Amino acid sequence: MTDFTITKEFPKSEIEFDQRFSQPDACYEYLFQQKWPDGFTCKKCGHKRYWLSSINLYICTRCERQHSLTAGTIMDSSKIPITYWFKAMWWFTTRKSGVNAVNWRPSFSTISSPVQQ
Ligand SMILES: [Zn+2]
Repeated sequence: MTDFTITKEFPKSEIEFDQRFSQPDACYEYLFQQKWPDGFTCKKCGHKRYWLSSINLYICTRCERQHSLTAGTIMDSSKIPITYWFKAMWWFTTRKSGVNAVNWRPSFSTISSPVQQ
């Protein structure tokens, strides 16, 4: 559930990509859609409401469990801005054999290229 995956909606051109993911909010929104396509659902109690903390943690309003959009991914607890990660993702998923050339952590094994070669 915490894997970063490239979906059909992922931009197919670099211009489109830059326009869409130039701001961190857009990146987090994308990750949110990945994690909770039907809206936030607490992993612990199934509650649907949350608080959003200043460091982008989603906190269940019922049991106060914290959910991170980047937990379990290479982006977790990184000091690198998320927009940089998205750009890196872009390069690695659009270049031929790019993914193979990089020693991705297992959580990234689900990445598939949106570009049909
Ligand atoms: Zn909860």
